[in-house]
Amino acid sequence: MAPRPDLGPPPRLGYVASAIDRAVACRTDDAALKKFAEHPRAGCYVIGGELVVLKNSGERSDPIFSPAEAGKLGTAREKVFLGLMDEAPRFGVGLDPQAIEPLQGRKDLKITDLRTIAVQGLVGAEHLPPIAEAKALLGWHARHRFCPNCGAPTQPMCGGWRRDCPSCEVEHFPRTDPVVIMLAIAGERGVLGRSRRFAPTMWSCLAGFAEPGETIEEAVRREVLEEAGIACGRVKYFASQPWPFPSSLMIGCIAEALSQTIVVDLEELEDARWFDREELALMLARKHPQGLTTPPPVAIAHHIIRSFVADGGNVLG
Ligand SMILES: [Zn+2]
Repeated sequence: MAPRPDLGPPPRLGYVASAIDRAVACRTDDAALKKFAEHPRAGCYVIGGELVVLKNSGERSDPIFSPAEAGKLGTAREKVFLGLMDEAPRFGVGLDPQAIEPLQGRKDLKITDLRTIAVQGLVGAEHLPPIAEAKALLGWHARHRFCPNCGAPTQPMCGGWRRDCPSCEVEHFPRTDPVVIMLAIAGERGVLGRSRRFAPTMWSCLAGFAEPGETIEEAVRREVLEEAGIACGRVKYFASQPWPFPSSLMIGCIAEALSQTIVVDLEELEDARWFDREELALMLARKHPQGLTTPPPVAIAHHIIRSFVADGGNVLG
């Protein structure tokens, strides 16, 4: 049996364990929302498309702007109520991506994408879940200005948690798109793939959108068969992770591979192959002799692979 590699304490997964109380009942309470907006500790996360605006304040940037400070950065397209953090109201403010351009040169600001913020730890970890919440919700608003039922312009409602169509009176709610992400395993080995857009050394779990009319287990088996030609049996849920690029929920699973021969779907992937636990441990620890790596700890793929390295076939339960 392969020795169990020592990977140290588990790292923190990104965008999860939100400290936000979503205060759902307040979304339909206009007086409460107005009070929150005027609250002395009210704070805004400011986002324009893929970019997040931070205050450049030394090693750790500060992502919180007062409503007045946020107002000076540009005209908000949307302002959404995220909830309360330690009883302080938190909002997401959406700027036009063009309004971000003139801010890029300012020395008091740091403007970058959320992946970079998460991977480089540019803000305190407690801010990642509300920034993810704000980014996904604001992105939904940006893509749903018109009613998909009748084509009329829609209006934001409920602190940004609904858009109503004044023409056909249909109510529209923010979408979350389920994505299955899985490690197919057999004995001491698991299958990883490489997308062409990955960094040259990175390999990750296979993944794909769950389709209408499909269970999570069926989506896992279909994706592994489509992308790597491997048939799977048992599927075990591992954990999930909000993935606001733009609005996915990653559903992490382990799958029991029933066949061994990999046939790569070259439309989707550059390559896919088996890795044994020892090699995966070196990749997680960034000690692989050829420099191969897994995704970083902010991504759920890292944690799925790590659980297989630590527990082998027991991850299937
Ligand atoms: Zn309509």
